Parts: sequence; structure tokens; C-alpha cells
Amino acid sequence: MNINYNYNNLKESYLFSLIDKKLNEYKAQNPGKDAIRLGIGDVTLPLAPVIVEAMQRAVLEMGERSTFRGYGEEQGYAFLRQAVCAYYAKKGVALSDSEVFISDGAKSDLGNILDIFSINNTVLIPDPVYPVYVDTNIMAGRKIIYVNGNEENSFLPLPDKNVKADIIYLCSPNNPTGAVYNKKQLESWVSYALEQDAVILFDSAYEIFIQDQSLPTSVYQIEGARKCAIEFCSLSKTAGFTGTRCGYTVIPHELNRDQVSLNKLWLRRQTTKFNGVPYIVQRGAEAVFSDEGLNQIKANIAYYMQNAKLIANTLKKLGIWSIGGENSPYIWLKCTDGMSSWDFFDYLLTQFGIVGTPGAGFGANGEGFFRLTAFGDRGNILRAMGKLTRHGDQTM
Ligand SMILES: *Cc1c(COP(=O)(O)O)cnc(C)c1O
Repeated sequence: MNINYNYNNLKESYLFSLIDKKLNEYKAQNPGKDAIRLGIGDVTLPLAPVIVEAMQRAVLEMGERSTFRGYGEEQGYAFLRQAVCAYYAKKGVALSDSEVFISDGAKSDLGNILDIFSINNTVLIPDPVYPVYVDTNIMAGRKIIYVNGNEENSFLPLPDKNVKADIIYLCSPNNPTGAVYNKKQLESWVSYALEQDAVILFDSAYEIFIQDQSLPTSVYQIEGARKCAIEFCSLSKTAGFTGTRCGYTVIPHELNRDQVSLNKLWLRRQTTKFNGVPYIVQRGAEAVFSDEGLNQIKANIAYYMQNAKLIANTLKKLGIWSIGGENSPYIWLKCTDGMSSWDFFDYLLTQFGIVGTPGAGFGANGEGFFRLTAFGDRGNILRAMGKLTRHGDQTM
């Protein structure tokens, strides 16, 4: 008997546990002082009323013999897949409902999709990025190469034609940097993937935060993407579903490799290994895409984006290099005085009682950078920014 030895190659994931440890030490040493958390990667506003009402109705249906439902439809209920298609139609993207797969979230699908690809594929991953892409491929034992995000390319790395890759991860808007690819940049990734016969795994978990109408919110807004890209989306950040759990993955029918439809492979994989999303949750998700639902969740997004603006404007005033915050809930800043990510974490915590996330936790290129998030409470963000501004005024 052998275990999967690839797990030995995983780096210990100490990022959030170390943050908690340092925070607890701070609290013990500073009784009565509070710490303001600007590192939260989770939403804080509750589900919109129209979503709650839809789920309540669904609960009652499940308690009536005439409306009770057992096992659900394979790819998710048609009512929800059609609602997703209607949402894409508004972006100018035509999808058929058989191209949409409902899931319990993007993280599961981003990891599970690897089931349909050979272990011999080479994977190209931007650095820094959401750590799930790296870890799931290490678990499988795939070869990983990185493409560097840095200050010079504004953390939006572009393809290098001399590099050979089979599976390409893109995350736009990016977690942790908040950077968003424009149309031309995405076109270069799509044409690279088509030339290489590679498949792009496009994570659009933050698409709804994009405010600039000229920026793409779906990879399928790029010509040719239907032949080379799978898109992963989630209601977690868009509609506050991190605890409720629902997402969707799009695999176009034109996406074939070796004359095999990836849509068919994924259907087979999901129907074999995935149990689907509860009917009640799918009714809640359907309500997200109604006119009323979209209005209600957009009010929440606007609240987070106002937070983001407050943070970004404060950093600008203080002369700190930063990106993000305009089209994403993340603000990515360069640590001051050449500090490392973790030194800057300690500095912010001990001097200001502010907790953020060290960029080094998202890859080698994150060292020297730091992530702040807009998911917190407005009052807390105003207090934190007030502390930074007063300090900045004193040193000037
Ligand atoms: C939060 C997040 C997800 C998805 O989350 P789920 O809750 O699993 O749907 C996916 N990608 C990125 C980059 C994220 O930050």
C-alpha cells in the first residue's frame, strides 16, 4: 500500500494560521486594544432578501408531497442553467444551457477539472495567484511552470511564445492583486492557447466587481475563446454565497481535444463523482439572476467598492504604490521602506492595529507586497484609514 506521495511535495499552508497566531499574540499583549481586520477574503454582508425569500419558498416546496424533489438534474436544474445563460447574454455571450454546469463553488471545480486532463500536461500558473491552482496540481504530480507578475507588468503577465504549456490558469480580476486583463491582453492569451493547443482555465470569481465597461467580464467575450477556454464562476463573492455554496462552470461545445468533447468528459466526471447542489440553494441562486436579485446584489457590491475606493485613495495620498480596488475588492500595495511582506504585516499590526495579508503567501513574486480587502465594515475601514492618514501627516 502506498499513499499519494505527491502530498509530501505540498508546502505547509501557514498563511492564515500564522496571521491568527500573530493576531492572538497582539491581543494578549494589548488588552483592550482592538485590531481592525482588512485581510478578510470572505464576504461580510448578508444574503439579499430576494435570495432568502426564494430559498424559503423552496424549503416549503420540499415539505409538500406534490412539490417535493429528490435527486436533481445532472448538470444542475435547467431553470438555473437558463438563468446563467440569460446573464451571459447580457454580456454579449451566447451560451446554450448544456454548456453550463452548476456546482458547489469554483474552488471544487477548479481542482476537480484536473480529472479530465492527463497527468503529463504541463501547467502554466501566474505568480502571485490564488494558491488552489498550484496545490491541486502538486497533489496530482503535474509539472508546473510559472509566469511572473511584477511591478513592471502591473501584475498582468502575458504569454511567452517560447514557453510550451498545456493548461493555463488565468484569474481576472486577480486574487490577490486586483489586476484585471483588458481585451487586448486576453486576446494574446487566447491566441497563445490556440497556437499551443492548450486549454485556459479562466477563473472569473470576481467578474461582477468590474466597473470599467471596456474590460472583459468573461473570457468568451474574446474571439476564439470557445475553442480553448473553460470558465469558472461562483456566487460566493458576487452574491455572498460563501456559506450557502453555489457556482457554475462553462464548457463550450466547440472545446475539443483529440476529437473528444471536454464538455462530455466533464459531464461524465460530474455525474460519477459529484452529487449536485441542493434544490433549495439552486432556487436561491436563480433569484440572484433575476432583475431584482441583480439590483440587490449590486447594492452590496457598491458598498464593497466604496470601501475599496477609500483604501485606494488613502494609499495614494500617502504615496504608497498600489493597484487594484477600482475593478476588484482587493488592493495590492508595495510594502514601504523595502520591508518584506511579513515585516510589513508586523509593522501594520503593532503600529496601527491593522491586519492585512502578506503577499508572500500568494507566491514568490508576492514577496514585498501586501493585500488589503474591501470586504469589511465601513466604520472599521474608515477608522483604519484615519489611523494611517494621521500617521502620514505627522511624518510629513
Ligand atoms: C473565493 C475564490 C474562488 C471561489 O470560491 P468558492 O467559494 O469555492 O466558489 C475562486 N477563485 C478565487 C480566485 C477566489 O478568490
